[in-house]
Amino acid sequence: MNDIDTFRADEAVCPYCGHEHDDSWEFFSGSDGDGSETTVTCNECDKDFILRLHVDVCYTSAKQKSPATPDAMLAAERRQESDHA
Ligand SMILES: [Zn+2]
Repeated sequence: MNDIDTFRADEAVCPYCGHEHDDSWEFFSGSDGDGSETTVTCNECDKDFILRLHVDVCYTSAKQKSPATPDAMLAAERRQESDHA
């Protein structure tokens, strides 16, 4: 019988005892990318299992208003507002 759901779980789930590990990201270093694997020893049953990292990366972009200083950006925004007023 094996009804432990270990597939793309929110935390690292032990495939032997089903223990859910907190702070699973700590098993990987910051440079590890999608599909990285590491061996983890279960905190609960002490068995080793393989943990694969899934990374969903997304990006947000915005138009750069001005390459100048924030003060200049603010002044430019004020100028725009008064143009529309
Ligand atoms: Zn376990």
